[in-house]
Amino acid sequence: MTCDFLSLAAAGVRTLQPYQPGKPESELRREYGLSDIVKLASNENPLGPSPKALMAVKEALDQLARYPDGNGFELKAALSQRLRVPMAALTLGNGSNDVLELVARAFLTPEHEAIFSEHAFAVYPIVTQAIGATARVAKANPPDHEMPCGHDLDAMRARVTGRTRVTFIANPNNPTGTWLKTAELEAFLKAVPERVIVVVDEAYLEYVEPDMDCPDALQWLARFPNLVVTRTFSKAYGLAGLRVGYAVSSPPVADLLNRVREPFNVNSLALAAATAALEDAEHLERSKAVNRDGRRRLLAFCRQQGLGWLPSAGNFLCVEVGRPGRDVFLELLKRGVITRPVDNYGLPRFLRISIGTEAENARLLDALGDVLKG
Ligand SMILES: *Cc1c(COP(=O)(O)O)cnc(C)c1O
Repeated sequence: MTCDFLSLAAAGVRTLQPYQPGKPESELRREYGLSDIVKLASNENPLGPSPKALMAVKEALDQLARYPDGNGFELKAALSQRLRVPMAALTLGNGSNDVLELVARAFLTPEHEAIFSEHAFAVYPIVTQAIGATARVAKANPPDHEMPCGHDLDAMRARVTGRTRVTFIANPNNPTGTWLKTAELEAFLKAVPERVIVVVDEAYLEYVEPDMDCPDALQWLARFPNLVVTRTFSKAYGLAGLRVGYAVSSPPVADLLNRVREPFNVNSLALAAATAALEDAEHLERSKAVNRDGRRRLLAFCRQQGLGWLPSAGNFLCVEVGRPGRDVFLELLKRGVITRPVDNYGLPRFLRISIGTEAENARLLDALGDVLKG
């Protein structure tokens, strides 16, 4: 008789559902014997990283026997200059996912609660539950709202109690793509008590267009010491494989996050790549332009096919496919196209599609047209 390890696990861990990542290309190749595969499932930059970042990685290879700079001085200095924040406001992470974990570890306990929205990024429930804290899920916006399925900040505010320690807000949100306007988010920050940490996860901020009125929350840092803004190099900067992200907060909050951080949580290649990637404004602009064109093309297809979609400020589109999204996902797999079903997010009739290069989008639309005809 082996030990019943499940009963030994921490209460939150016992019922924890692991994160479901996008299907890797190599897995589809193994399972279906396909070779020409298009992956539009994890909101990665289809252009890849800046050539400057790749060069920096090559140069950093020489030093692989050495531990990375545990304080990430160069990357922090570059970010500090770029964002006009003190270095003491920065916390680096092994992806921004790591930073979300640090927030949970620093501020949540089994006696406390975290608030997030229905259809919000899946990592928020995971980090909350792993600590044993209680998740309070706020209803999302109704279908007739300007931002259907998006965060309802009034509903989130109504969930604040004496036990609330953290609220997680993704702006823009994944998987919906919806976003909060400047005035709404500012009103929320004003309304929430200072003892509640407000995480604004800006993983897709680079893709936001000026006419969307989707705010850069860094503007409020000086006013709200409980604000934690998280960013990543995984999306627009094309460095998902290296794992590097960061938080910007008031220095006292950054100090606490730093205490629970692993000593060398960001590896040396990631530090070098991210520092160089920040310098390449042109690559970022090109990436945004590819996304803008691709989004237009996908939207035109949806209109033409009579499909619904959620408004998106990111590099992906959540499309209402008129049947179980998972069925369409499986049909697309047979045609060598990987997308992301979002039934686990409470959106069973939607499919999340990352925006790719022109050629990748053409493959997707061909295959999707074919599937929807059947
Ligand atoms: C992809 C994503 C992240 C972070 O990813 P990392 O690779 O860990 O930086 C964070 N938040 C949202 C909403 C995302 O979609």
